[in-house]
Amino acid sequence: MSKKPPVAKKEEPPATAPAPAATEAAAQAPVKKVEKGKREKKHKVEKGVHAMYKVEGDKVSRARPTCERCGPGYFMADHHDRYTCGHCGFTRYKQK
Ligand SMILES: [Zn+2]
Repeated sequence: MSKKPPVAKKEEPPATAPAPAATEAAAQAPVKKVEKGKREKKHKVEKGVHAMYKVEGDKVSRARPTCERCGPGYFMADHHDRYTCGHCGFTRYKQK
């Protein structure tokens, strides 16, 4: 391994002083927001059984309904218009 001496390069601030010529060019070119490949990373929330319960004080409440067929312990997935059981496939539509 070859060791390289630490390069202490002083980074000069980009010279973007509002020069008259530069502002003219900027005014002509339409301002575009190019954000290609810059995808916002979704913060993944770790899921687990603990997500199905909410503890308030010393009381536990369930955040999702349980499956009617499978009984308690089988939580149903919360979709935008329905609840489904991943165990038996039971689907219950949300009433509006
Ligand atoms: Zn079920």
